[in-house]
Amino acid sequence: MAEYSIHAGHNAFVPGAHGYIKEEVVNRQIKEAAIKYLRLAGQTVYDDTDDAGKTQNENLAAIVRKINAHSGLTLAVSVHLNAGRGSGIEVYQYDSKTNAVAARVLKNICSVTGLPDRGVKRNQSLYVLRNTVPPAILIECGFVDTKKDAAIIAGKSDSVGKAIAEGILGSPVKTVGTTKSAESKKSASARTNTLLQRGDQGTAVRRLQQQLIQAGYNVGSAGADGVFGPATEVAVRALQKRNGLIDDGIFGPATKQALSHSAKKKEGATASAIVPYPGMLIKRGSRGQDVARIQRALSLTADGIFGPKTETAVRSYQKRHGLTVDGIVGPKTWNTLF
Ligand SMILES: [Zn+2]
Repeated sequence: MAEYSIHAGHNAFVPGAHGYIKEEVVNRQIKEAAIKYLRLAGQTVYDDTDDAGKTQNENLAAIVRKINAHSGLTLAVSVHLNAGRGSGIEVYQYDSKTNAVAARVLKNICSVTGLPDRGVKRNQSLYVLRNTVPPAILIECGFVDTKKDAAIIAGKSDSVGKAIAEGILGSPVKTVGTTKSAESKKSASARTNTLLQRGDQGTAVRRLQQQLIQAGYNVGSAGADGVFGPATEVAVRALQKRNGLIDDGIFGPATKQALSHSAKKKEGATASAIVPYPGMLIKRGSRGQDVARIQRALSLTADGIFGPKTETAVRSYQKRHGLTVDGIVGPKTWNTLF
């Protein structure tokens, strides 16, 4: 059995390309899948991804150091995503030693994604290809700033990883021998990788809308109607912004995780604190228990005095939840808060 090294480029300190998706996030999902399938096929695989380097040079040097620390590797593989608003897949090689594997990997990824084949490209200036001892290829798995590429790549990261593994091996990875639970886990993860976006309809959209409503977001006057329209998009963007994600309005794996997290948090909050509306507007200059309650809900210092900071926080809360942005807590804002 052969030994391989795989890594995903960039890290949280030195992020890769950002567009509709983040390179350093999605390339890690692809890398994980490639490793999983190679190991399923009985291969030894080292994950030489670097999550510690604080500069691009540190990151690249660490990756090369890790790769060169192994001896007798058959191949080192670098997983990246492209930028520049193009479309398709390309594979970089240092020299002809990797002709066959580069061509197989490229063909496989194109076939599972349906994205254009941009070819195998010779490049002797890429740091990782130039400095690694074993033969190496660098894969650009689609464009983060092209909507179609990004949606396909993020939605099919598992299949892309499998395509890479099978391209490396030159044969399909048999998963028939895996247990039922591994298979159902696989299909569950395939389901969670499906993207929802404006124009989509159906039960998955309805479920998303129900979760958004439960988490306190406004999906429009029609409620959970199963149609991903402008209001649902606004709600998804607000959720993304609030959770530090790229606010593209596309509901993918990271946004899904953020939503289930905020739904749980909200559930806990409502269970412990359903508070009836006090019956009067609470605004700049108001004082007392109700003000303190609002401040706690907005993670402010609960001094019970409705000053400018509280007003600003109320405004941004109202904006996030599709309420009238007036900085005044009336029944609608109160009932959304509690
Ligand atoms: Zn990159």
